[in-house]
Amino acid sequence: MMHIQRSTLLFLLLNCGAQALAQEPVEPAINAEEQEMVSWLDEREEEMLGLLERIINMNSGSLNSDGVDAVTAIFDEELRELGFSTSRLPGELIEMPSCPGSDYSVDLTDHLLARRPGNGNRLLLMGHIDTVFPPDSPFQTFRREGDMIYGPGVADMKGGLVVMLYALKALAAADALDEAAFTVLLNSDEEMGSLSSRKYIEEEALEHDWGLVYESSGIDTMTRQRKGIGQARLVVTGRAAHAGGAHEQGLSAIKELAYKIVQIENMTDYESGVTVNVGVVNGGEARNTISPCAEALMDLRYPQPEQGVAAVERWQEIFNRVYSYAVDGGEITTESYINLHRPPKIPTPESDWLLEKTIAIGRLLGQDIGITDSGGGTDGSLSQAMGLPTLDSLGIAGTGAHSNREEARASSLAERAALSAVLIRRLARE
Ligand SMILES: [Zn+2]
Repeated sequence: MMHIQRSTLLFLLLNCGAQALAQEPVEPAINAEEQEMVSWLDEREEEMLGLLERIINMNSGSLNSDGVDAVTAIFDEELRELGFSTSRLPGELIEMPSCPGSDYSVDLTDHLLARRPGNGNRLLLMGHIDTVFPPDSPFQTFRREGDMIYGPGVADMKGGLVVMLYALKALAAADALDEAAFTVLLNSDEEMGSLSSRKYIEEEALEHDWGLVYESSGIDTMTRQRKGIGQARLVVTGRAAHAGGAHEQGLSAIKELAYKIVQIENMTDYESGVTVNVGVVNGGEARNTISPCAEALMDLRYPQPEQGVAAVERWQEIFNRVYSYAVDGGEITTESYINLHRPPKIPTPESDWLLEKTIAIGRLLGQDIGITDSGGGTDGSLSQAMGLPTLDSLGIAGTGAHSNREEARASSLAERAALSAVLIRRLARE
């Protein structure tokens, strides 16, 4: 099914971490049928921008279920028009420990699964509907200035959803959709770490030949490898007391959490690539009350799977030990939620081949795309870890994700859709 060019493989092995491929592409020139798809897409740039504007202006923060469902419905309808049969995969309520009054459970809505049978290879196309911007964020609307477009999710990754859809539309217009068997999986919870959709992605990964994820291609780069990601939520419970009248009777949860945070932050080791960040802390009731509860939310990045396992063990040690008081177990209690929600994306010869093939096709189309590594994760890490060779940055050329500086290049919509359409057509037969 898969043929790796010897010279190509050798080149990649010799160039681990290289930021650009110097070798000439081995891909055949763009043929007339492919050129027709490219032209078809070129003529639809305004239409693509119109759809993007419409879905950017619909808030779909991960926990805004109504908004996520509304955007999902648009893609459901579009995919059915292309002959896909669609269904919803149930979301999930993920319960996490919390201090009283700070419910941190996350209620994740359903995901879209769309299938279309075909003759060639089985391709799994993935993207996420959700964004990091809740409905009360000041960053809500689409804006265009020349070739630049701005808005929440324009790069991460509503632009990519439009790229994916229009690649499929171009294939349909060329009567080429039957050349491959497609599954499209659009999840609602990627920005929450795919806590509910992970199982579906992993199941689907086993049933396909190639994985294509439409996260942003940065400033014209595609990502070769990524760190794994973990998260932990920690809730420390102590004993409240009056800070003046009965100080000695209190057990401060904030004090204990502070000791733990120092230990947790000390896990960062730039040399090995492991980083830990306590990103959110919260706790206490009043200035003059010894705090009965304190909580923290933390992030872990790790290059190799065993480093993730070791970090979880260290977290558990820190969570289980009382640092700040000489008390027996039970007096200060710690509850936690720990999840290594993304494995590292470690390149394989097959995923390197897919990356190089894509870049070579890009070059034939006049698109100059480089290669980078990333500390950020995508759902492609989940599918790749299951053995599905996956390319995870086929989306729009954009930057500034997760900030109000998020922007993308409008003309990259049609460019990347053309790249995908040609890639899919060629992958269908590989
Ligand atoms: Zn994303």
